[in-house]
Amino acid sequence: MPINDPTTATPSEIDEELNRLDIEHAKANDTLSRLTTRAQRLVNDGMAEYATELRPQIEQARQAIAECEATERPLEAEFERRGGWTRAWLVLNTGGHVHRTTACRTCFPSTRFAWLTQFSGHDETEIVEQAGKAACTECYPSAPVDVRNRPSRIKTPEQLAREAEKAEGAKAKAAKAITAPDGTPLRTKQYGQIETEFTARRSYIEALSYARLLTKRNVAFHRNTIAEYHEDARLILAALAAKHSRTVDDLRAELAPKVEAKWNREHSNWG
Ligand SMILES: [Zn+2]
Repeated sequence: MPINDPTTATPSEIDEELNRLDIEHAKANDTLSRLTTRAQRLVNDGMAEYATELRPQIEQARQAIAECEATERPLEAEFERRGGWTRAWLVLNTGGHVHRTTACRTCFPSTRFAWLTQFSGHDETEIVEQAGKAACTECYPSAPVDVRNRPSRIKTPEQLAREAEKAEGAKAKAAKAITAPDGTPLRTKQYGQIETEFTARRSYIEALSYARLLTKRNVAFHRNTIAEYHEDARLILAALAAKHSRTVDDLRAELAPKVEAKWNREHSNWG
């Protein structure tokens, strides 16, 4: 997320943005070198006129690089201004270690890292605590032995984002779901097991309106069915009330106009 005022941003926010810009920067660099190589080849092969056609794209890549650098500058300056802060990187391979710097001498120029921006500015003991046996002994020489023997609980920002997304999805699903007041599935006679609040409300409206139709047609003949619809409506209302911590009277009053509308629109014409 773009940062308007670095002085009020947290180290994690600044590093997250720097990480994003680093990736963008690297991409633009790749594009630029690919394009300039291609242009040079065309010039060498006597097709300079085609090389000129690549100029706008080359210019665009240069512009993107310049923009990344301009956006990075105040963020780097803020890091310096605060006298720096802790940072942590995870090596991206199976059993990869956590390092306090990508310049760690146990790593190579080709080593691929995930920047653990969630730990930026955090206490190193906390990072080591989370990293357990994944903590680099070179970077964190003072990590206690018992901590070093623990399995790593480190996650990359991508993993954390995915987990948050999943949790968000589960929350949204729970918000739509409905159960009986005691948490067991909401089972009805006429509508089977009802999973969602949407279906619960629709079924309630339908049950009362249809029961009214049956009553109008032949109350004696349909006595048992009518009772079942009324019982279903009662169960659904109790479930809705429990879910929203409202009274059944309150919900009945809320749904009454909808039952009436259903009756007028549909069932009253059938009788
Ligand atoms: Zn290290």
